[in-house]
Amino acid sequence: MIEFRQVTKRYDSDHTALRQVSFQLERGELAFLTGHSGAGKSTLLKLLMVMERPTAGDVVVGGQHLNRLPKRQIPYIRRHIGVVFQNHQLLFDRTVFDNVAMPLEVMGVSPTDIGRRVRAALDKVGLLKKEKMNPMQLSGGEQQRVGIARAVVNKPPVLLADEPTGNLDPDLSADIMHLFTQFSQVGVTVLIASHDVALINAMDRRQLTLEQGRLIAGGHSGH
Ligand code: ADP
Ligand code: ADP
Repeated sequence: MIEFRQVTKRYDSDHTALRQVSFQLERGELAFLTGHSGAGKSTLLKLLMVMERPTAGDVVVGGQHLNRLPKRQIPYIRRHIGVVFQNHQLLFDRTVFDNVAMPLEVMGVSPTDIGRRVRAALDKVGLLKKEKMNPMQLSGGEQQRVGIARAVVNKPPVLLADEPTGNLDPDLSADIMHLFTQFSQVGVTVLIASHDVALINAMDRRQLTLEQGRLIAGGHSGH
């Protein structure tokens, strides 16, 4: 579902963020992306979101070569990639329902379908009863689950998360990880950038480890 082939990203002569990174993630696989600050994790996620383009090599998602994608196609590709942020980026001037509905409204989905799909997403994260509330009234863990519902509301085959448990205590973090596991079990490919060593070890999943832009573990192909 996700493939990096010898991907190098150089921002300028002093900043090479990724060096010949190669790996594949299959449909339904859940993996962690680890490494110290500055190792290249955000850059790798940005290449998948087509916020940056590789300097060399290929990034392929669902058979699509992202580096050859014309600009006008980028919004369509992004619909296939759900993203969860550490600070969840919810809007506090609208309800939980309306926050989750946002991606569907952008796509022009009919109100009936929006209602059905938003409630299905809220049900998956256990927040169906809180659809009318303002995110401000929710706990940190619940807010993060609203962010996850929004990321999966259009059923993307790929889910990316950037430090999704950064502000949560261990119990809530485990709940969030359980949700990610459930999505992977229904075929979503999940890649989670995280520093949370205890949590990652408890999960016992594949770890892609970056060090100064090189993939030093988890690539499975000798890189
Ligand atoms: P991480 O997410 O692991 O902290 P980043 O991908 O943010 O790592 O950064 C990797 C390297 O690339 C760092 O040396 C960083 O300073 C550099 N870098 C990131 N973004 C830019 C940019 N827009 N311009 C120049 N250098 C950048
Ligand atoms: P994080 O640790 O969350 O990646 P940073 O402060 O490293 O946060 O980066 C914030 C933003 O600045 C990111 O979009 C990153 O790509 C960009 N950035 C990081 N390093 C540089 C750099 N040396 N020059 C320009 N932009 C950079």
